[in-house]
Amino acid sequence: MRRVVSIDGPAGSGKTTIAKLIAQELGYSYLDTGALYRAVAFSLRNNMIEPHDSDDRLRAVLSRTVVIFRNGRVLLNDDDVTDGIRSKDIDHYSSVFSARKIVRDFLLGSQRDAASHHDLVVEGRDTTTVVFPDAKKKIFLDASLEERAKRRYIQYRDKGIEISMADAMNTIVERDGRDAGRDIAPLVKAPDALLIDSSNLSIEEVRNTILDFVRKDP
Ligand code: C5P
Repeated sequence: MRRVVSIDGPAGSGKTTIAKLIAQELGYSYLDTGALYRAVAFSLRNNMIEPHDSDDRLRAVLSRTVVIFRNGRVLLNDDDVTDGIRSKDIDHYSSVFSARKIVRDFLLGSQRDAASHHDLVVEGRDTTTVVFPDAKKKIFLDASLEERAKRRYIQYRDKGIEISMADAMNTIVERDGRDAGRDIAPLVKAPDALLIDSSNLSIEEVRNTILDFVRKDP
């Protein structure tokens, strides 16, 4: 395994923005594991899979599902789904299906493979705890619920998706509850992760804090 910087945190904490910047600065590869879970949920829903369907039904779809994250784009069976997986629907279903062991097992190997040839900045919910428990540097990025809901609201609005501030907050609360409350690989801060609360920090400040941390005792 090459050098890995892993960043976990709840929805709207700014992981994606920050992880991309850190990867760029360090010259590492970048992996958005949430995008993989989103692509899987997209594939399952396109194949009419419901949340409580059996593992056998999920397995049948997963056996013909190939998800690749490359250069910031997400390919599902060779189709570019980068934009399609950023909907409210997939926000919901990615968090529902990611609680299934069969889905997590399906994605584990390819996430680890991403660090076999390249130094990696990886972000997600369990990258500091399950996927890369031996990561060189671990960060848990958090922010207040209000701030995260505000960021999500702005993201939706910029994409032309209609949502109220209250709905943005409810969506985040629901997703956080599911991601932190599930039995397998729940969202939790690894004991050896640096906690950063970005509520009152600029992107630049978060970026610099992480770069200082990563460069210290490399
Ligand atoms: O990070 P993002 O919001 O795109 O992730 C979508 C969903 O995928 C999360 O709500 C979570 O349920 C799931 N996920 C996960 N483990 C990861 C990354 C994402 O369970 N490592």
